[in-house]
Amino acid sequence: MKYYQKLIENNAQWAAEMTANDPDFFAKREAKQTPHYLVIGCSDSRVPLEMMTGALPGEMFVHRNIGNQVWETDMNILSVLQFAVHVLDVEHVIVCGHSNCGALKAAQGPQSNGLVDHWLSDIRDLIRTQRPALDACPDAEARLHRLSHLNVLQQVGILSRMPTILDAWSRGRRPMLHGWVYDIGTGLIERVVEQVDSAERAVALLPAH
Ligand SMILES: [Zn+2]
Repeated sequence: MKYYQKLIENNAQWAAEMTANDPDFFAKREAKQTPHYLVIGCSDSRVPLEMMTGALPGEMFVHRNIGNQVWETDMNILSVLQFAVHVLDVEHVIVCGHSNCGALKAAQGPQSNGLVDHWLSDIRDLIRTQRPALDACPDAEARLHRLSHLNVLQQVGILSRMPTILDAWSRGRRPMLHGWVYDIGTGLIERVVEQVDSAERAVALLPAH
């Protein structure tokens, strides 16, 4: 119970701190949100998207799932993407992977993980199709690091083919697609790919196979 109670206490302290210098901090945000970014991250508790980027409430629209994946059949992310791009008009869509990702580790192994194996199937496919690039890695650590990059590139590629994104691009240049890998051990973001604004550019992101 003490851990749960701590959350409520922290919240009261945080709200007081935010209004100490700006009494209208929350009131200003009450009517609407105008975020510049949609960030698609992993559910991993060690990847605090707003905290690690200094984003304030209202600046970042967020979707999280295991392995920061973009599925063309996932109504959840399709809805998030459509709302973020067409209603909120975000300027940037960022896929944020991370080091030491449990989803990527699990997808590499032969063991059964129960229901989550369905969700890992696309990552397993990626591992199969990118086996030459992964097998060229000198050790397991380098392989996992490479896979985290490939997974982010794969998701940016899928985003670039989404009707929502293609429709937005046909009417201008928003949004830009980006791929990051956050290093849990250092707290720093590695920029894997930036400013993808065409399906042609996205297609060339992954090694040919
Ligand atoms: Zn993860």
